[in-house]
Amino acid sequence: MSSFPAASPSNIGALDAAHHLHPFSDTKKVNAAGARIIARGEGCLIFDNHGKRYLDAFAGLWCVNIGYGRHEITDAVTRQMNELPYYNTFFGTTTTPAALLAEKITSHAGPTINRVFFTGSGSEANDTWFRMARVYWGAMGKPTKKTVISRVNGYHGSTVAGASLGGMKWMHEQGDLPIPGIVHIGQPYWYAEGGELSPEEFGLKAARELEAKIDELGEDNVAAFVAEPIQGAGGVIIPPDTYWPEIARICREHNILLVCDEVICGFGRTGQWFGHQHYGVTPDLAPIAKGLSSGYLPIGGVLVSDRVGDVLVNEVGDFNHGFTYSGHPVCAAAALENIRILEDEGIVDRVRDTIGPYFARAWASLQDHPMVGEAVSVGLMGAVQLAADKATRTRFADKEKAGVTVRNHCLENGLVLRATGDRMLASPPLVISEAEVDEVVTKLRAGLDHAWAVLER
Ligand code: PMP
Repeated sequence: MSSFPAASPSNIGALDAAHHLHPFSDTKKVNAAGARIIARGEGCLIFDNHGKRYLDAFAGLWCVNIGYGRHEITDAVTRQMNELPYYNTFFGTTTTPAALLAEKITSHAGPTINRVFFTGSGSEANDTWFRMARVYWGAMGKPTKKTVISRVNGYHGSTVAGASLGGMKWMHEQGDLPIPGIVHIGQPYWYAEGGELSPEEFGLKAARELEAKIDELGEDNVAAFVAEPIQGAGGVIIPPDTYWPEIARICREHNILLVCDEVICGFGRTGQWFGHQHYGVTPDLAPIAKGLSSGYLPIGGVLVSDRVGDVLVNEVGDFNHGFTYSGHPVCAAAALENIRILEDEGIVDRVRDTIGPYFARAWASLQDHPMVGEAVSVGLMGAVQLAADKATRTRFADKEKAGVTVRNHCLENGLVLRATGDRMLASPPLVISEAEVDEVVTKLRAGLDHAWAVLER
């Protein structure tokens, strides 16, 4: 028996408008339009309260990797709820799901990563490694190594440290960010910034901005460099192949920690368990969240390499950091069952070997559209760059409007995609079928046709 108060579709909208402040939203506009009420989900589909069907090509917020409606997770969570709904991992205690999950996650990371610190979200995971990196250098007798280098248009969450690490100017403008000790370099966004250089040349140039920044600040003052293997919220910016090896070289030669933010790229999105594996680099620290539990319950963490973990354990002693819900047993049980499903059903390999390549071909077929500057993907992450004139890589004067016009047409047509400025983004559940991939591409093409007809160029 549900104990929710009696509600009807009409009063949910009114209650929401009166009392609910939405994240990353202009509340007045949301209220005026009325929030879409999502009522249920199954596989890659979600349904609103009127029963309208949407193909969710965004996996919620890049997170529902195993798709909606997996009752094995419900069962695992129910069992754990009945056994032990909560206990903390402070003060020398642990729980079975937390310990099992830590082992399970590290079994999918490389041989140098053997520990996990749990958090409740991706933002908390970024705050966590930020402190950990400074504590590490302090213990190594290098307390001046404090500054973290991050990237313009990167996204690392919404807490004070997370938003500061992120390179979104419009976020920094609210709340007087970034905090001291965080500086930004450029992003490897060839389409927008590559000019006459080839993608390979531009990838090296973008990576070498890191070396120049380290030289400017002095190696003894730099703790770490952080980047998403593929920038997600920034627009699925896929770096040229030359970028990551050069970044790894620079971090190694200048003795600074390499931090890969795996919150989106982790747990199969790229066709590997972690995005850094796709690029063949090894991070010292890596925040995770989202696909860890496929979003069924909130949980995040930081993968900690032996380089940092051994120092934390053997030299630092107390690390004065943690959350009430670090390693929450019910969230950990959900994550364990999620990983079991990913493993047993070969979902990550399927992204690498079959559905990823299928998606890549279907997505790239949009390249012939007059409005498409580039249609690129890795695994099940894709971006379509909108262009007013593709021959000259000229973009629409009103980038936002271009993206929103396409997105809204898709939504009306029952397809959920995201528009980041003038890039259309897809990140569907990893269990998407071939027929559903075709539906995504067909409906996106219809959205492009519509926008091409109505937008001024
Ligand atoms: N890092 C990255 C790369 C992300 O994409 C996100 C969320 N979109 C975060 C961190 C923050 O995660 P959360 O919203 O769970 O705090």
